[in-house]
Amino acid sequence: MPEQLTDKQSEYLRITTDFIENTLLPLRSGAGSFEKSAAIHKQIVKASQKAGLYYLTQPKKFGGSEASNQVLTVVRETLAAANTPYSGSIFGPGPGVLADCNEYIESSYLKPLLNGDKRGAFGFTEPKDAAQHTQAKIVDDGFIVNGQKSYITGGSEADFINTYVDVLPGGKSMLLIDTHLPGVVKGEVFQSLDGSHHAEFTFDNVQVPAQNLLGSIGKGLPRALRQIGNTRLAFSAESVGLMCWITDYVEQHLKTPHPSGQSLGDREGVRLRFADMRIQTYVARSMLYRTARLADGKENVMNEVIAAKVFSTETLATVLDIAIQLVGGKALVEQHPLAILYRKIRALRIAEGASDVLRLSLSKGALDLNMGRL
Ligand SMILES: Cc1cc2nc3c(=O)[nH]c(=O)nc-3n(C[C@H](O)[C@H](O)[C@H](O)COP(=O)(O)OP(=O)(O)OC[C@H]3O[C@@H](n4cnc5c(N)ncnc54)[C@H](O)[C@@H]3O)c2cc1C
Repeated sequence: MPEQLTDKQSEYLRITTDFIENTLLPLRSGAGSFEKSAAIHKQIVKASQKAGLYYLTQPKKFGGSEASNQVLTVVRETLAAANTPYSGSIFGPGPGVLADCNEYIESSYLKPLLNGDKRGAFGFTEPKDAAQHTQAKIVDDGFIVNGQKSYITGGSEADFINTYVDVLPGGKSMLLIDTHLPGVVKGEVFQSLDGSHHAEFTFDNVQVPAQNLLGSIGKGLPRALRQIGNTRLAFSAESVGLMCWITDYVEQHLKTPHPSGQSLGDREGVRLRFADMRIQTYVARSMLYRTARLADGKENVMNEVIAAKVFSTETLATVLDIAIQLVGGKALVEQHPLAILYRKIRALRIAEGASDVLRLSLSKGALDLNMGRL
């Protein structure tokens, strides 16, 4: 975190710290674990609304407070550094790909989404064995959609799916597809290693009204990437916060007595590994805040956000791996906090762009499009 915070950033740091102490940490049981339930989710949402954190991701036009990337990063990193399982309950839904759409989308979907009356999901990834990409044929009053999406987070509970389709003719576009429409078929529902839930969907001759087009035909990729870019920065903030928590945890561990009589922290080899954890966390944290600052400017920061996402999620994996090694066998007992984290963080290097695919995008930006800074 930058040493010199603005008044606003300091204020949100204080609000977040109070929120952690007074709302999140009291939910920890005597054994140190955290319960999750629908009732606890509601309790946190209410407390977050009262504290003003809930509205930080929502536009001013709809009653939100629409924080800058830097304020959001301070809040997200601080929350992650408390290592509770409640990050999904704290922020209200943002507009995502529904931002800057027509009035119909705004009143029928965006407002209900922001108030919590409707749920949306994002359909981008497709099964590897699909015969063709999801296609939308233009007809008189809209589109006929055929295809499959394979990994839709929250798809089971979604009222609509913002779907990346190939419009014929016209190109890659985003269509909002109601899940109750005839021809929308929910397939397998599954849970990934991090505990989140997803669903597959098939679209079989689904008739989608013309007004459900998000933005314009052929401009779907920039719209999808804008949403993905925000999430990538959020992943970086979460990764850095968790690295801070892990490093603190290991520091305490190294200071406690060891059965050998000499605490682990007194051994030179252990100190070298601990120094690596601190160096990597320091670099990732510095990079995060520079990227958040750049993202608040007007210029394109896609390459910088990619760099931050790849580095922070990969470094988190390295730092956690060293931590588990230094804590030893008990770190692998199922309910140990490091074991829980080990399962939770693996998805970060695949979701919102697999690391190597992002490396290719970054090189394309630099070599072919002259984009990105060092
Ligand atoms: C927790 C979680 C939540 C998700 N939520 C959603 C969601 O809500 N909506 C959605 O649409 N998708 C979602 N996804 C899917 C996610 O976007 C994809 O898994 C991710 O983009 C990778 O695509 P893929 O799984 O098809 O893997 P593939 O594209 O098949 O890639 C597999 C691996 O191959 C390698 N690879 C692939 N291409 C290249 C290349 N050109 N060069 C070098 N290496 C390469 C990489 O190592 C990559 O990890 C989610 C995934 C996870 C894990």
